[in-house]
Amino acid sequence: MTESAQGGFPGFGPDAPLDLGALSSAAVAGIVGRLRDRTTGAFADAVARTGYCSHPVRLTGSSRTIDAATGEILAEFRSDDAPLGTLFRACGNRRESVCPACSRVYARDTFEMIRAGLLGGKTVPAEVAENPLVFATLTAPSFGHVHGTRTKHGGGGRCRPHGRGVCPHGRPRSCTAQHAEHDAAVGGPLCDACYDWQSAVVWQWHAPELWRRFTIAMRRQVADALGVRESDLARVASVQFAKVAEYQVRGLVHFHALIRLDGPDGPGSPAPLPGDVLADAVRAAARSVVVTAPPVDGADVSRVLRFGQQLDVRCVRSGVPDNDDGTDDLRPEQVAGYLAKYSTKGTGTDAAEPRPHHQRLIRTCRWLAERAATACRSVAGPDPEDDDGCHCGHCADSPYRLLAKWAHMLGFRGHFSSKSRRYSIPLGRLRRARARFQRLKADADRDGTPMDTADLEARLLADDEGTTLVVGHWTYQGTGWTNPGDKALADAAAARAREYAQWKARTRGGEVPITPAA
Ligand SMILES: [Zn+2]
Ligand SMILES: [Zn+2]
Ligand SMILES: [Zn+2]
Ligand SMILES: [Zn+2]
Repeated sequence: MTESAQGGFPGFGPDAPLDLGALSSAAVAGIVGRLRDRTTGAFADAVARTGYCSHPVRLTGSSRTIDAATGEILAEFRSDDAPLGTLFRACGNRRESVCPACSRVYARDTFEMIRAGLLGGKTVPAEVAENPLVFATLTAPSFGHVHGTRTKHGGGGRCRPHGRGVCPHGRPRSCTAQHAEHDAAVGGPLCDACYDWQSAVVWQWHAPELWRRFTIAMRRQVADALGVRESDLARVASVQFAKVAEYQVRGLVHFHALIRLDGPDGPGSPAPLPGDVLADAVRAAARSVVVTAPPVDGADVSRVLRFGQQLDVRCVRSGVPDNDDGTDDLRPEQVAGYLAKYSTKGTGTDAAEPRPHHQRLIRTCRWLAERAATACRSVAGPDPEDDDGCHCGHCADSPYRLLAKWAHMLGFRGHFSSKSRRYSIPLGRLRRARARFQRLKADADRDGTPMDTADLEARLLADDEGTTLVVGHWTYQGTGWTNPGDKALADAAAARAREYAQWKARTRGGEVPITPAA
């Protein structure tokens, strides 16, 4: 960090206080303890090495990095030599609500991964920046009217002023309130009895399959547009994408995807179709996808599931020279920023104050799983006195039997971010590059030598897994900082690092901060 990079950051400097907020007496005792036994320096080292993780994994033991070809020991690491005598490893959690620091790292990697697929870099050829690109949002259908803030697109802010009359349960079909964003009613139905909770959960449970079929349909549509058989598509073009799932306030996911068309010779080879034709293919694919969901039990019906009517498909880049980039005012970097931000979000349920309709969705997940597990009893059931489960051999096959395990996710069991194989560099390789950088930097700091920056990125990103072996013996000691004072300090330091990054992004101008909105 250079002096000029820090200059002007409000509150920066050795004298600036760290905002610790309200501390419990246990936290104060912990901090005082560290000051008294002079371990604050070692603790500061340990917490910095985890990137200010809220609850790192604690390990003791040692490992050696060995050259697989020669058997030479390249490096040795022992927890005894680490600050505080323990190896603290960052938890790596994706969700901002679980670990703010690790979720920022995840967002940054996701941003880099998505950006490289848009503009090249990080082993992805720069020519991908010339290829057609579409940004699509695939929604869930409606399962009944819900309360909303309606502030977007000049909605005027009234919830649902034009609904007529009352529902069969005597509740008004309109709502003239102007809901605040944090109003617990927002996203919840106007009438709980009218809302189709079961179908909402069944849709969410099958949403990953809808997405999978969409990716197949999309390739089929592109093949159609090119006039080739689907099995011959690879000879003329290749469709690549990065996708993120985001919970809406009603508790159902949307899929946001960036879809790029390449030629047959890999990422960045000239594409055979312009962006608007790709956008048409994406639209047609989204509309055509169907999953028939089997009934939960004998009393249930089968359902034909689709994506919602609300479908947003925009051409970000046409990929035609001289005809760019006037198709949309979306900038590729901006889109990468959105997706990275979404990728760190959970269900949006506040554990302390969950929205009532999220709780109802959770209960519906459990109830449907229970019904699926006992389906055979209600139809031709075994002896009801026999309590040791069912032996029919059918209910174990029910596609819904694991639904209860995913109740906390409101029935969604898919990936929150994923990509096709050749869209961009894998997140795992970015993570390994970061770990290598940290090791090189630690070595340079320890030896007091400048880091060798020649071909640094290429060396960091080299895919040479398998040329070295890591052999170690580690014992799991537990998870989290061992005293409440440590956790308070780690969280405060993480908040400060986050503020600094946001400030830097703002002052640099023009760049989209990827930190999840506060
Ligand atoms: Zn963490
Ligand atoms: Zn309302
Ligand atoms: Zn009703
Ligand atoms: Zn059974």
